[in-house]
Amino acid sequence: MQQNNNNRDYNVFAICANNNIDLLEYQIRKFKPEFCAVYDKNNANDLKIKIKDLNTTVLSGMDGINFISSHEKTDYIINALMGQIGLEPTLIAIKSKKNIGLANKETLVAAGDIVMNEAKKHGVNILPIDSEHCAIYQCLRGEEINEIDKLILTASGGPFYGKNKENLKKVTVDDALCHPTWKMGKKITIDSATMMNKGLELIEACHLFNISPDDIGIIIHRESIIHSLAQFKDKSIKAQMGLPDMKMCIQYALTCNNNGKREKSMCKELDLTEIKNLSFAKPDNENFIFPELARFAIKQGGTLPAVMNSANEIAVDLFIREKISFTHIFDLVENAVQKHKNIKNPGITDIIEASEEIKRHFIAKFA
Ligand code: MG
Repeated sequence: MQQNNNNRDYNVFAICANNNIDLLEYQIRKFKPEFCAVYDKNNANDLKIKIKDLNTTVLSGMDGINFISSHEKTDYIINALMGQIGLEPTLIAIKSKKNIGLANKETLVAAGDIVMNEAKKHGVNILPIDSEHCAIYQCLRGEEINEIDKLILTASGGPFYGKNKENLKKVTVDDALCHPTWKMGKKITIDSATMMNKGLELIEACHLFNISPDDIGIIIHRESIIHSLAQFKDKSIKAQMGLPDMKMCIQYALTCNNNGKREKSMCKELDLTEIKNLSFAKPDNENFIFPELARFAIKQGGTLPAVMNSANEIAVDLFIREKISFTHIFDLVENAVQKHKNIKNPGITDIIEASEEIKRHFIAKFA
């Protein structure tokens, strides 16, 4: 991403994707980037043929992604890769002193201490694009960090809110992919249905805002209008509100990096008289164990959050491919967390190795 002089327009210098080549072609024709990186090599070859009339250079694999993450002509990276695979390019971008708009929460879940320390060392800003963290970031602007009492993440509760274990045993992939308020990719939609998304977000918030896991609350808020809240020492609470639309978060991560100011947006105005009521409830930790499992994992620290995350990535993939049932996701991840021999103060190699080990274990089991 490059910034123009008028502080409002942005040039897309490079763009990256894995599978959705048709959408990528559309985006390349629209934004005309100099480079494009496609993780899957076969897809990269298909794309080369599709856009042979254009000047965009097509790269492939992790090398391609890393090349664009560190290119001297970029000054800002939006990392929206799916899963822990986003970790390596994030670290490379940080070392190359690029500010980062982070939509890839798994990066912070797996290696938050390392990523945040590196960002501090290289003077890099990490701006959250995740709606809850974008909301908290806005609530905390102008506030003193030591005056925070707690942060409160809101959760829609997903499509299965109110269901018990028996009901959950019967849910299908299609049921799980129907999110009540947000339109998102498959993996995160399943994570919302299991509530793992909120668990991952709890860990993400600990790292982004340097706050203890005990000082982060979770409340169910079905309407997804309040995107999250910050409570201060005097018990005053600030909330950020808006219609559920990721465009608002993405734009904020861009303009905030640019000049710290807000710009007009394409988002629809929230009419509270139309919404009428906002509801709040305690999460069901009996049937949806992941938020508290994540709190346990981040309190233990070490390689445990990365292992929980990797186990979840594989379990979700197995569920989408109909190899396991929905409730099996809970069992597999909980089991992986219980059995893991934690490594304290891990280096990046320890984190990657622990994650790969759990993946190998699952692949052998479900091949
Ligand atoms: Mg979120």
